Amino acid sequence: KLFNELQQTKGNIRVFCRCRPLSRREVLAGCTMVVEFDGANDGELVVLTGGSLKKTFKFDRVYSPKDDQVDVFADASPMATSVLDGYNVCIFAYGQTGTGKTFTMEGTEENRGVNYRTLEELFRIANERTETFSYRISVSVVEVYNEQIRDLLATSFSTKKLEIKQAPEGSHHIPGIVEATVENIKEVWNVLQAGSSTRSVGSNNVNEHSSRSHCMLCISVKAKNLINGECTKSKLWLVDLAGSERLAKTDVQGERLKEAQNINKSLSALGDVISALANKSSHIPYRNSKLTHLLQDSLGGDSKTLMFLQISPSDQDVSETTSSLNFATRVR
Ligand code: ADP
Ligand code: MG
Repeated sequence: KLFNELQQTKGNIRVFCRCRPLSRREVLAGCTMVVEFDGANDGELVVLTGGSLKKTFKFDRVYSPKDDQVDVFADASPMATSVLDGYNVCIFAYGQTGTGKTFTMEGTEENRGVNYRTLEELFRIANERTETFSYRISVSVVEVYNEQIRDLLATSFSTKKLEIKQAPEGSHHIPGIVEATVENIKEVWNVLQAGSSTRSVGSNNVNEHSSRSHCMLCISVKAKNLINGECTKSKLWLVDLAGSERLAKTDVQGERLKEAQNINKSLSALGDVISALANKSSHIPYRNSKLTHLLQDSLGGDSKTLMFLQISPSDQDVSETTSSLNFATRVR
C-alpha cells in the first residue's frame, strides 16, 4: 500500500532505515546511543554527530530498535503481491558489518526475516489465486565475491566461470545456474539451508567471509493466467550486501585490499545506478559491477526497489553511520 501511495510522485525506490539496539557488549563497554527516534513516525531520525551537533535524515520509513521483524515485514509485504502481479522486485540490505543486514533479511529460526516472510506471503497469495492463476516458482542462490559469481546450489564443484547473459527478449540470467523449483515454504527453507551450508565451505571464518560477499537469492515466478492463457515472468531479488565499512588503515594489503576494493566498487556501482534512476538519468550504468548487472532487471523500468539501510546506534560507530546515511541520501 505504502508503495502504491507514493508511486506517483517518487518513482519506484523506497528507502527504509533500521537501527538495531545497542548490544550487550556495547552496553557493558559504556557505549551511548547517538541516534534519536522522536520523528520516526514521520520517517525522520536524528544523529548526534559530535558535541552538540545534530543532523536530521529523512526516509520512507524509520525503524527504531523497538521495532521487530513483524513491524518491518508489514511494510515490505506488498512486494510479494507485486511479484505475483508480474513486477520485478529487488529488496536489499545495506550497511556496516554488525548492523543487522542478515538479521533483517535472513533472521533466525525464532525470528524470521524478510526472505522467509516474503516467500511465505508469496505462497499464501498464490494459493488464494489457484482458480485464476497457475504459478511456477523457483529459487537460485548465488554469492558474489571479488566480482565472481558462485552458485550456492550447485552440487558439483565446477571451475567454469558463471557469466551473466541477456536473453533476446531482454531479461538477464546466468546460464547453467541451478534453479530449484519449490512448491511450498518448507521446500524453500530446505533450499536456503543448502545454500548457507555451501556458502561456508572453503572459508575458515564464515562470518568474515559473509560480510565480504554479497549473498543473493533470486526467486523466479512464471505465471499463467488460466482465464486468458497469458503468461508472464517476474523476478524477486533478495540481497544481503557485503559490509559497507571502510578498511582499517592497518589492513591495506594483499587479499584484504583486493576484497575491500571489490566491495567498494560494487557498492558504489549500486549507489550510482540507484541515483541515476532517481534522477531519471538517460544512462544507467548497470555494467560497472556484477552486482548491478545481475540486478538489472529488478532495478529501474517498472520494477520496485526497496533498500533497508541498516545502522548502529552506538557512539563508536558514528562515522560509519553517517557515511551510510549519506549513501542513502544520495539515492533519494
Ligand atoms: P550484519 O549482517 O549487518 O553484519 P547481523 O545481522 O549479523 O549484522 O547482526 C549483528 C548482531 O546484531 C546479531 O547478533 C543480530 O542478531 C543482532 N541484531 C541485529 N539487528 C537486530 C535487531 N533489530 N534486534 C535485535 N538484534 C539485532
Ligand atoms: Mg551479515
